[in-house]
Amino acid sequence: MSATLPTEHITRGTNGSAALEPCPVFIGGEWQEIDGGPGFPVHNPSTGEVIAEAPACSAEHVNAAVEAAAAAYPGWWETPPVERARVFFRFKMLLEENFEELVRCNTREHGKTLIESRGDVRRGIEMVEFACGIPSLLMGETIENIARGIDCEAIRQPLGVCVGITPFNFPAMVPLWMYPVAIVCGNTFVLKPSEKVPLTAIKIARLLEQAGLPKGVFNIVHGGRECVDALLTHPKVRAISFVGSTPIAKYIYETGTSRNKRVQANGGAKNFVFLMPDADVENSTRGVVEGAFGCAGERCMASSTAVVIGAAATEVLPALVNAARAIKVGPTDRDEQPNMGPVITRQHRDRVMELIGAGEKEGAKVLADGRGAVKTGDGFFLGATILDEVRSGMTVANEEIFGPVLNVMRMEDLDSAIEMVNGSPFGNGASIFTRSGKAAREFKHRIKAGMVGINIGVPASMAWFPFNGWDDSFFGDLHMQGREGVQFFTQLKVTTSRWFSYGEGSIWAEK
Ligand code: NAD
Repeated sequence: MSATLPTEHITRGTNGSAALEPCPVFIGGEWQEIDGGPGFPVHNPSTGEVIAEAPACSAEHVNAAVEAAAAAYPGWWETPPVERARVFFRFKMLLEENFEELVRCNTREHGKTLIESRGDVRRGIEMVEFACGIPSLLMGETIENIARGIDCEAIRQPLGVCVGITPFNFPAMVPLWMYPVAIVCGNTFVLKPSEKVPLTAIKIARLLEQAGLPKGVFNIVHGGRECVDALLTHPKVRAISFVGSTPIAKYIYETGTSRNKRVQANGGAKNFVFLMPDADVENSTRGVVEGAFGCAGERCMASSTAVVIGAAATEVLPALVNAARAIKVGPTDRDEQPNMGPVITRQHRDRVMELIGAGEKEGAKVLADGRGAVKTGDGFFLGATILDEVRSGMTVANEEIFGPVLNVMRMEDLDSAIEMVNGSPFGNGASIFTRSGKAAREFKHRIKAGMVGINIGVPASMAWFPFNGWDDSFFGDLHMQGREGVQFFTQLKVTTSRWFSYGEGSIWAEK
């Protein structure tokens, strides 16, 4: 596949670097600012201003980070799991103490509302809570006497140096899906956060350092494709966790696995919310609107398509349109909060607007038009948009829009709606709003998606369950979060043993 490079570079210093927030790498326990070379602008999407620049790490920087992680590995592996977990108990307390500061930083570089940022950080903390309990999940298995006088046991051991590459849309939560699990399992780690939102990851890493993690166990590098390729191909990297768009997820999976590394790569999505004629109008409207427009639609689990079945259209569509039109869009980096913030960059906003235009040209009806919000200041604003009469095959039906746009597809009955959705290449989330247990049960059984909601708009699974994309929403075998996350970051060692100390007549003596 041809993966495209992130295009927007800036030259260090040209934006008045004195005013920029530092964006250091963290290698071997040292925070260092990298000089020279073009970096990547980090914006405050509410104002459009550049607030920092992420350096473009070269293969040499990556090598230094991987070597630091490799050097720290033997000592960290030998650290008892309960002691490893104890660092994360302290980390959890520091995250709580610094909660609001993290929330503000998250909102400033990402643009989501403070309430949404609180959700982002809270979900991340839940991963740390999960990681604190990992010692119980590291327990092995034994069969005594698998053959006469012979015992067999399987123990879990860490892999070595693991890597995380993360997207822009959950600056706190997504990196925390990865490294707390990897590190409590006994691995060391190199994180490459999104070059669009590196600051929250840095702030969180400073707390992990404060919690007492030994030098080199956790490292951060920054950059785009060059940096990622150096991580993917480094011989000392054993496993790669990736979250991002589908083409890049596929590229990461193919490149990593061809070098015999473990890879778990979450990709993009198109998620469908079914509205049955018997659905409660108020609750289902709220569920769809929050699911479609929360975080300005920049969620891999966004309810980006409402599948309106039969007579449901009569009541629910006007309610959806009213709710969408009532959403106030505006800057999020101040005390007075709007309902919805900006999208991540100006280019992304333009792309979403182009997709709305393409939908219109291909026959969709614009019931609510968010393009008017574009005038609001220099921020990257776009209002809530609803496209009705979207049909399979249209550009807006095929592509992940990743913005505040809700497609409406009208279907005659549950059966044809399930058939239509099961033709989608993606398989992240799908929900149904209904009062019928029969319809809900049939939906749950037949729908092709790894995370299913019943009267829930965004059925994103929580830390204790796998984040369970299927098909083009996931490349790999073991998902992030929960028990599967622990399995991904560990390998089994099976030992078969026999002791020749039995006397004459022992019941264990060979027959
Ligand atoms: P992206 O794929 O552009 O970037 C993700 C990461 O890959 C970043 O760290 C980026 O630097 C790196 N990258 C980008 N281009 C690359 C290239 N050519 N080669 C190597 N590395 C490259 O994704 P994004 O725009 O940051 O995030 C949005 C996407 O992430 C959406 O598609 C969304 O659905 C997806 N996402 C999925 C999940 C999930 O769990 N399935 C969760 C969150 C986001």
